[in-house]
Amino acid sequence: MDLLVVGSVGLDNVETPFGKIENALGGAATFIALSASYFTKPVKLIGVVGDDFPEEHVEMLEDHMIELEHLEVVKGGKTFRWGGRYHYDLNVRDTLFTDLNVFEHFNPIIPDRFKNNSFVVLGNIIPSLQQNVIDQLEGDNFIVTDTMNLWIETTYDDLLKVLKSTDALIINDSEARLLAKEVNLIKAARIIRDMGPEYLIIKKGEHGALLFHEEVVFSAPAYPLEAVFDPTGAGDTFVGGFAGYLHNAVDINMDTVKRAVIYGSAMASFCVEKFSTKGLEELDKLQIHDRFIGFRELSRFDDE
Ligand code: AMP
Repeated sequence: MDLLVVGSVGLDNVETPFGKIENALGGAATFIALSASYFTKPVKLIGVVGDDFPEEHVEMLEDHMIELEHLEVVKGGKTFRWGGRYHYDLNVRDTLFTDLNVFEHFNPIIPDRFKNNSFVVLGNIIPSLQQNVIDQLEGDNFIVTDTMNLWIETTYDDLLKVLKSTDALIINDSEARLLAKEVNLIKAARIIRDMGPEYLIIKKGEHGALLFHEEVVFSAPAYPLEAVFDPTGAGDTFVGGFAGYLHNAVDINMDTVKRAVIYGSAMASFCVEKFSTKGLEELDKLQIHDRFIGFRELSRFDDE
């Protein structure tokens, strides 16, 4: 199985109460691919940038064995740009600007050799584009989908269609409530799973994540971090750790999916410790494993 990641690659301007960064590497597919690269190689990234996309970013991604053969470079085009400002409560973020640039005409093409038996991660893009990717696939694939409030509010029916083909959906709690039109998360999870996804992961920010599959609910803790600098890309990084681990696992079942949720959480905890992708650029397997164990110890207790 190949691991394909489809989504945005861009340059971000980010302000948090702890600092400011401009023209930093960003984009959902960037965080997903980088995070997944610690579990499986090569990750194939499908996206688009302009010819202003800095070479240093290309080199860094390639150093992580991320295959960029299908990252289209539009001559004379400008790379997608996004700006965000976080409040003291880092859960609150204002989008300052979104310049789609070459991303406006993004038309993901799935090469023939990846159409069957692939592990496909659909980053947070408009559902009609996610569906475009799904329509190109043939046979047996495992599809992980991310989405956001905007698409639930504006393109609900298109999203429902995507969910029919989705094996694992990863969303946050407010998105789950909006999607299910139900305030209770347990009831919402049942409603969403009936829409298609066999596995549903609901992230609760600094309060961990819930995994739903059949009648089982698994609760993953959040890692108690003292230094959170930049939450940008944390959700995508979760998706990347989840997908990367699962892609490398011999089987997809509740045990491996539980571990994938913890690895996703561990990778997201590294992401927020530094600006942009910096927290993900120089990790090693031991550090990641140590944090995985840290997660296990957080909620382990004896019955006597
Ligand atoms: P997250 O913090 O998980 O919401 O992801 C933030 C990343 O998503 C940033 O690096 C942005 O470049 C990217 N992003 C923001 N808005 C969009 C959008 N409308 N479409 C695609 N990617 C986006």
